Amino acid sequence: MPDDCIFCRIVAGELPSAKLAEDERTYSFLDINPWTRGHALVIPKAHSKNLYEISDEDLAATVTAAARLARDMRAKLACDGVNLLNSCEPAAWQTVFHFHMHVIPRYDDDPLRLPGAPSQAEPAELAAIAEELTHA
Ligand code: AMP
Ligand code: ZN
Repeated sequence: MPDDCIFCRIVAGELPSAKLAEDERTYSFLDINPWTRGHALVIPKAHSKNLYEISDEDLAATVTAAARLARDMRAKLACDGVNLLNSCEPAAWQTVFHFHMHVIPRYDDDPLRLPGAPSQAEPAELAAIAEELTHA
């Protein structure tokens, strides 16, 4: 575990957290700067920097725990929806470099808005990108 990783230190109990759930591979707790009421984070207990590095097993466990928490939020917080968000690298807004899924309860009257607007794409451009990205 990297000494300077705050999420590893939370898992180890060296830093406080508002814990929600825990299983063999994952730990869930409230975000200290919530975007909405109940905003939570789900992390693998084993350190990995981000989506590029996490193992398939830890990723599956983390997403499964996030989905369970989202259903819990619907039942207990009476939210109107949920966003799952993961940021990978600073270009994508990652600020803590231990993989985490944000689980953000959404309310019809909450203040969150999409940070950008969708653009138009030409069919030829879509086809070219699909060709680049298609698995063999
Ligand atoms: P990201 O920008 O996707 O890397 O998100 C990092 C998140 O971690 C932010 O929403 C922070 O508010 C949250 N955060 C940072 N430190 C703590 C902490 N000690 N306890 C709970 N959440 C934290
Ligand atoms: Zn860590």
